[in-house]
Amino acid sequence: MAGTALAKGGIKALSSGVAYQRCLNPLCGATLDVGQFRTACERCGDLLDIEYDWARIPVPKQLSEFEQMWTRRHEPLRFSGVWRFYELLPFAPPDKVVTVGEGQTLLQQANDVAKFVGLDAGQLYLQYEGMNPSGSFKDNGMCAAFSHARLTGAKRAACASTGNTSASLSMYSSVTGLMKALIFIGSGKISYGKLSQALEYGALTVQIAGDFDDAMIRVREVSQDLGIYLVNSINPFRLEGQKTVMLRVLEALRWQVPDWIVVPGGNLGNSSAFGKAFMELKQLGLIDRLPRLAVINAAGADTLFQLYERRGLRWNGGKPDMAITCNYYDDLDSRKSKADTIASAIEINRPVNLKKCLRALDVCDGTVRKVSDQEILDAKAQVGAGGIGCEPASAASVAGAKLLRQEGVIAPSDRVVCILTGHQLKDPTATVAYHTTDQDQFNEVLGSRGVSRASFANRAIAVPNELDAIIRAIQLYS
Ligand SMILES: *Cc1c(COP(=O)(O)O)cnc(C)c1O
Ligand SMILES: [Zn+2]
Repeated sequence: MAGTALAKGGIKALSSGVAYQRCLNPLCGATLDVGQFRTACERCGDLLDIEYDWARIPVPKQLSEFEQMWTRRHEPLRFSGVWRFYELLPFAPPDKVVTVGEGQTLLQQANDVAKFVGLDAGQLYLQYEGMNPSGSFKDNGMCAAFSHARLTGAKRAACASTGNTSASLSMYSSVTGLMKALIFIGSGKISYGKLSQALEYGALTVQIAGDFDDAMIRVREVSQDLGIYLVNSINPFRLEGQKTVMLRVLEALRWQVPDWIVVPGGNLGNSSAFGKAFMELKQLGLIDRLPRLAVINAAGADTLFQLYERRGLRWNGGKPDMAITCNYYDDLDSRKSKADTIASAIEINRPVNLKKCLRALDVCDGTVRKVSDQEILDAKAQVGAGGIGCEPASAASVAGAKLLRQEGVIAPSDRVVCILTGHQLKDPTATVAYHTTDQDQFNEVLGSRGVSRASFANRAIAVPNELDAIIRAIQLYS
């Protein structure tokens, strides 16, 4: 079947057994049927990964063949920016696949932001994943997890969330009516934009007196005890959907591989998925070179940076020295150190996909940096001023690209794609505080995080309610 043309009418069901789950640990290598769901390998506790028997899958000979799918947008699965690439993630039969039209996203060339980052004009692209139905890239993964949950006959799905995963899960559950959503959030760390979505979509919302890392531990326990399907990014099927962010980037670049992909790192699902996408495309001969991958942590939640850049943790052929990680976590615990950043979507100290991300960094000659909340907010203001905007965590990618440019790791002539992971409207509190003239509001929201200035603030002008004064102010400031 390999290399045959794509099915012309709808998506053909593939024979069973073309996809399976395998333990990430090569010393274990346990496999699991695709119809099962486990949050970890039952033999050794490691992460599970999805593998395919590519020889039995009708993968196109060239990526450009996927462009045919545009002519078949009347088919819901080909309309989806995820399932348009079905042949590269065929773990579920087409009749189980769930879509709400996710993945209609945009690769925007951003010359003003390129200047801010220090890149030549035309070399910076922003992949705006905020255009997804629930406003973040999470929908790419959620449609895949939902499809798998449906395959297993699950009736309830749960997640712990800093906000966007719960917004996405709640949306899929309300639009499709297939499953009830149960979400776990920490106290006081979720932005109103995101919380409002989960509440309005009708999810059962459990607020835990703790942070995200606590909520994550609890949701694993609860879903195990109650047999609820878990959609956090330890769910390997979610990452299959997130691979398509890279396919759409390549598509927008007419299938040319960029020099750099820069992505914020939280639970490290995205970076892991991106690395897997490129690994598979290379293996299938669909690309001839790999981009470099930069994962950007917030300085207040910089576990990956500490482990990868400071302590030398590496993939090491699937056998990373996890003692380094254990020691680091013990140290965090003994210092009672908690993640703390304005970029709430990446405020995570124990990234569940750490090992998969190490693989991605290995495959794509990766590098990791951390950026301060000050740098994140300044970058966010520039992204907004130069285009569509994003939420704070997303801007870490742009701040990271700027840092790597300053260091000379990224050259001015490199072609760089920064992933804007979430919508501009997700966290208006941070944005308004940045642009405010009210010093108390600034201090309350941002000052407590060490942010001391708003370098690119666009401040409202206060004027008396008098025509002359209003006209004078407009003339003075324009
Ligand atoms: C979830 C999320 C992230 C972090 O992505 P990971 O895959 O967990 O590393 C970054 N930005 C936004 C807006 C998110 O919602
Ligand atoms: Zn195992």
